Amino acid sequence: MEQVVVGLFLTFFILEFLVEFILNEMNISYVRKRWVEQKIPDFFQGKMSPKDYRKSVEYTLAKGRFQRWAEVYGALVTLFVLFGGVLPYLDWFSQHVGGRFPSTTQAAGILFSFSTGLIFSILSLPTDLYSTLVIEERFGFNKTTLKLYLTDKLKGLFLGVVIGIPFLFGVLWLMEGTGSYWWLWAFFFIFAFQFLMVMIYPTLIAPLFNKFEPLRDGELRQRILALADQVGFKTDGVYTMDGSRRSAHSNAYFTGIGKTKRIVLFDTLIEQMTIDQGLAVLAHEMGHYKMKHIRRMLVIRGICLLVGLYILNLLVGYEPMFRAFGLEKPSNYGALVLFSLLSGPVTFYLNPLMNFLSRKHEYEADRFATRTLKDGRPMEEALIGLTVKNLSNLTPHPWYSAYHYSHPTTAERVSAIRKVSSSEYRVSSS
Ligand SMILES: [Zn+2]
Repeated sequence: MEQVVVGLFLTFFILEFLVEFILNEMNISYVRKRWVEQKIPDFFQGKMSPKDYRKSVEYTLAKGRFQRWAEVYGALVTLFVLFGGVLPYLDWFSQHVGGRFPSTTQAAGILFSFSTGLIFSILSLPTDLYSTLVIEERFGFNKTTLKLYLTDKLKGLFLGVVIGIPFLFGVLWLMEGTGSYWWLWAFFFIFAFQFLMVMIYPTLIAPLFNKFEPLRDGELRQRILALADQVGFKTDGVYTMDGSRRSAHSNAYFTGIGKTKRIVLFDTLIEQMTIDQGLAVLAHEMGHYKMKHIRRMLVIRGICLLVGLYILNLLVGYEPMFRAFGLEKPSNYGALVLFSLLSGPVTFYLNPLMNFLSRKHEYEADRFATRTLKDGRPMEEALIGLTVKNLSNLTPHPWYSAYHYSHPTTAERVSAIRKVSSSEYRVSSS
């Protein structure tokens, strides 16, 4: 049976690898072909210099070429951990060290989960470092110094320990102590835990990495608050964040839930956009809330979690799964770690579906913004401006974007916005 488990896993694993690799190759050659035509794509004509178009192509190709090697390297790392004797060693080590604590502390399980996670984090450092400090640097986006990079990693590790220990303890304790319905208990626990994280994120976690300041009073702030009022969006305040400390890429987001929702604007966004454009971006974000996208995604993720835990429940005592990866006997923590390592190649087929839903939400939020502002142009300009400034790929391969993109391409979004504004406001926005 062990061979069947290994064979099944490898089949899915190789398939995932091939799909990712081939899509990347298709995207690279597609972008090259469009570039040879030497024509700036429709919506960007007059908005982007030929020099910037060239730079965006070079940026896309540099990332694509690097992705090839990152793909291969990542696959080798996973195979090494699963088949290179890493898991049996970590299991022995965790039981050896964890055995000094009472078994009620779940010390062995927590150690095993952490040490496996740590191995993956350490082995992913080379590709992560290269993409941040070499590729992003070459195209002028990187503002992170090596020192800041390492401090971020250490803070992340610290948070992982502080948050991870109670989390793992809770899950392992429920697996052990609540009988055959443990998966249902674990589901409620994990769901509540995620909720708690969303609540404490804006005030306790995010400030560890960035400085947040209330947006200074002025036209922008007044108009944001008026907009929030107009659409009935309750907020705890508008903040700016020093995103420029790490990267020149720009963004805006909402965090928190209920009345503690905060609007966060990157300083880079405020610099790059006019007030009208910034408002359009915020109207779009508020659209996600008003149209209940956030809630819907939460429900879908909840269902996935419940199904995943139920499947884990079926596998938890299945000995061949453990022996296939060198673990002598079944354990709850072993099942937890193996499941999270093995499920990737199976669930990756859900990614395009989730992205499809997410793209649908983006169109709806764009429509909301256009209707709220009774004008599609600020949203259009904001999108085009962001695409140009971020040197985004103007011409992704349709299959690549269908598979990977959580947002429609800018060209798709702009033409959808024009349809809304021309049918409802008869604005000709040429
Ligand atoms: Zn959106």
